[in-house]
Amino acid sequence: VSREMQSHDTQVNFGRNTIGGGTFTVIAGPCAVESKEQMFKSAEIVKKYGAVGIRGGAFKPRTSPYSFQGLEEEGLKILKETSAEYGLPCVTEIIDAGHVEMMESYVDAFQIGARNMQNFKLLKAVGQSQKPTILKRGMSATIEELLLAAEYIYNEGNKNVIICERGIRTYEKATRNTLDLNAVAYIKTKSHLPVIVDPSHGTGIRELVAPMAKAAVACGADGVIVEVHYNPQIALSDGQQSLDENHFAKLMSELNPFVQAA
Ligand code: PEP
Ligand code: MN
Repeated sequence: VSREMQSHDTQVNFGRNTIGGGTFTVIAGPCAVESKEQMFKSAEIVKKYGAVGIRGGAFKPRTSPYSFQGLEEEGLKILKETSAEYGLPCVTEIIDAGHVEMMESYVDAFQIGARNMQNFKLLKAVGQSQKPTILKRGMSATIEELLLAAEYIYNEGNKNVIICERGIRTYEKATRNTLDLNAVAYIKTKSHLPVIVDPSHGTGIRELVAPMAKAAVACGADGVIVEVHYNPQIALSDGQQSLDENHFAKLMSELNPFVQAA
């Protein structure tokens, strides 16, 4: 994935859109798929303000086994239905190498979560698919480890890899994670892969999502993936960092000069 191997920027197709190569992509949606009603209401907002894709987790790798674990295949069905209804390509997290074939029929892109960045069996399995794959940085992973994880996917033949900086764990407790925007600028010099930023998990605080999304533009990222929920108060996961319609509208108006049209 090094620039020594390829000088031009990789562009990854995501639905009708392209991630990388000079445009700024916004993907938005709830942390987790909770119900059809929740997804349709949230997609309405995602679409209205011009994001090009929708997110939603069906398999949720939660810190606590007592937290909502996701609707699993039922969630994928809802995600696919939402995607078709609103014309928004969809991305969801894959947590099991054995799920590749089953999930391919439901989604436009895979996400490998922070907790699985070095699940090498999963990386290889996704590498044997051609699905665009957003690879999130592990919470304690160095940039080199992140790039080597990307190599695991790329090396198997899947060139549609998108790197995602989502914050790392540091001594700082005020924010959920420390969003390492150095990593974005650094990786853009070393790798030809698109790099996006997740300011939702990167900060864990709704009010900080917009400033850090704008910072993502400034440091050269190819896009952002943002958590949006029609009613964050009742979200089953990550409500505290999810944007409601007003927050998302404001963010999109601020990002508008940089965003590719839906
Ligand atoms: C998510 O995107 O909802 C998620 C679990 O992210 P991460 O893997 O970055 O913690
Ligand atoms: Mn989340």
